[in-house]
Amino acid sequence: MANRSNYIYDFEMNWDFTLIDKNNSAIEIKNLSKTYISGEVEVKALQDINLVVEQKERLVILGPSGAGKTTLLNLLGGITSPDKDGGVLKIFSSNIKKYSIKQLCEYRKNRIGFIFQFYNLFPALTAIENVVISIELLNKHLKLPLYEIATKYLEMVGLGDRLHHYPYQLSGGEQQRVAIARALAKIPFIGKEFILLCDEPTGNLDTDTGDIIIDLIIELNEKEDITCVLVSHNPSIADKFASQIIEIKNGRIEKNSKLIEKNEGFS
Ligand code: ADP
Repeated sequence: MANRSNYIYDFEMNWDFTLIDKNNSAIEIKNLSKTYISGEVEVKALQDINLVVEQKERLVILGPSGAGKTTLLNLLGGITSPDKDGGVLKIFSSNIKKYSIKQLCEYRKNRIGFIFQFYNLFPALTAIENVVISIELLNKHLKLPLYEIATKYLEMVGLGDRLHHYPYQLSGGEQQRVAIARALAKIPFIGKEFILLCDEPTGNLDTDTGDIIIDLIIELNEKEDITCVLVSHNPSIADKFASQIIEIKNGRIEKNSKLIEKNEGFS
């Protein structure tokens, strides 16, 4: 089995390093807004967003349907662009707001893992093939053993005996585990400057399975030292999962509660 500590975290990013101003934050957002324009209709999905998330933190974004949660997640994932006027969107000290389309593509590949409510696995690929396909692109510069890495992460999520199952042969909870393994298997290629973005990851699961998935993400966050952002409309998930909670309503952060110290509760 390959040992992650032996891997070299070095790849050619072609990023504009003049945009980088190093500090410890994984995410730093200042005065950010996002307006969708479709035809005559303008929707201010996010307004005046300010937020700091340190590396290794677990942020939960709470709010009712239509509040702007997914829009914020998509901005962090480089899927949606924020409004051009003003504002800062720094990820690991680099202002991704100024990235070109090519840089955003590299960014998504090299910094972001996504977990969705409906898993989004390739139905014609087995569990291990679903993981391998996501890391194949990253293997251009580092010749790492893809199948060994995929196996390691599937074992880590408890699916060592389901490597060659197709999605239709797996339960919802197991499919979500494959999706988690698929996202995290990028880490040996990237290192800890990685953000796991989870959009309602338990929304399609029963409560017990959902709890197991949340416990698993917490365990992997602690083991792999990664930063996690999770969208939910369920406050009990936030209480269990978060080191920081933001509540969004009508596109604005109404409340930001940060856990100061373990067991102290939210301020
Ligand atoms: P949430 O995830 O909290 O349910 P969203 O971020 O999906 O909220 O949506 C926020 C607002 O932006 C909603 O009013 C929604 O209708 C609007 N919206 C989302 N995506 C688009 C889009 N691609 N084009 C136009 N409006 C959109």
